[in-house]
Amino acid sequence: GVPEVPARPVAPRRVSRQIHVGPVAVGGGAPVSVQSMTTTRTSDIGATLQQIAELTASGCQIVRVACPTQDDADALATIARKSQIPVIADIHFQPKYVFAAIEAGCAAVRVNPGNIKKFDDQVKEIARAAKDHGTPIRIGVNAGSLDRRLLQKYGKATPEALVESALWEASLFEEHDFRDIKISVKHNDPVVMIEAYRQLAEQCDYPLHLGVTEAGPAFQGTIKSAVAFGALLSRGIGDTVRVSLSAPPAEEVKVGIQILESLGLRQRRLEIVSCPSCGRAQVDVYKLAEEVTAGLDGMDVPLRVAVMGCVVNGPGEAREADLGVASGNGKGQIFVKGEVVKTVPESKIVETLIEEAMRLAERKSPA
Ligand code: SF4
Repeated sequence: GVPEVPARPVAPRRVSRQIHVGPVAVGGGAPVSVQSMTTTRTSDIGATLQQIAELTASGCQIVRVACPTQDDADALATIARKSQIPVIADIHFQPKYVFAAIEAGCAAVRVNPGNIKKFDDQVKEIARAAKDHGTPIRIGVNAGSLDRRLLQKYGKATPEALVESALWEASLFEEHDFRDIKISVKHNDPVVMIEAYRQLAEQCDYPLHLGVTEAGPAFQGTIKSAVAFGALLSRGIGDTVRVSLSAPPAEEVKVGIQILESLGLRQRRLEIVSCPSCGRAQVDVYKLAEEVTAGLDGMDVPLRVAVMGCVVNGPGEAREADLGVASGNGKGQIFVKGEVVKTVPESKIVETLIEEAMRLAERKSPA
């Protein structure tokens, strides 16, 4: 396990009420959690549980599954029971699936009461069932499915429109004295999304689920999410995150965890500090950094490893890290905790760093 070295968070967290998604506390000062969503047909129980197991292994803390059909609703009880992490059922507007998900023991339901009201007004009954089972609800406002009334009022999905929609949705539950809610206001444009969450954070005390919707393929989606989450979390806004990528869901989790680690909201694990290389480099830094990263993959004790191309900034950075190398003249000076422990030929740099890392990791691991 990861030793409990306190991280230094980027900013004090916004004060929000706390809800519990299964055993995971969300809001009220609880650590920011990482979520993802399965891509399998939920009715395919085996495939869905397999994907949830992969997500769990990658560090996912809460998983959401879509529930568009009766077969999916029928699968929820088994999935909720066998999943190692809490399962949220994502329901568009059929009240019967909401009741099914609550009865099935899902840890939460994502549903917008506005949709329920429009088709078959059972908001009151849903609030009662959710309260009886202690099941929280996520209200998820999306730019792409904004209420027509608000689209007409604002012309498009502005931050104000998203916030008004979210608060109206919440009020439909508040009328029935139900406040076990978290909210998201997603947009594909980080500028709109950031402003929407900022306004929403001021106007309510519900915990907030951050997401940039339709963020795109892995590279673009990673950057959009990192920028948007960074802007919000650095103001203390955000209690749980989902990175949306057109990529396998375990990738979303990796990115989400890395964002939280970068912001000091979670203890950093392995961190490679490598220089960008320049005309002074005396070694192939890219190759070296990649080989060291691959060699240390899976190490879960916090470790900062510096890989530097030359002796200009090399020794300084390598000294600040737990472990480092500064290259020059076909050799690598290996630093451990600021001391040069040995100088090895270039061909031995990677294996020496890995050896030293293992030794440090053993020392850092709790007995
Ligand atoms: Fe260039 Fe050396 Fe700095 Fe790397 S450590 S960027 S090679 S000056």
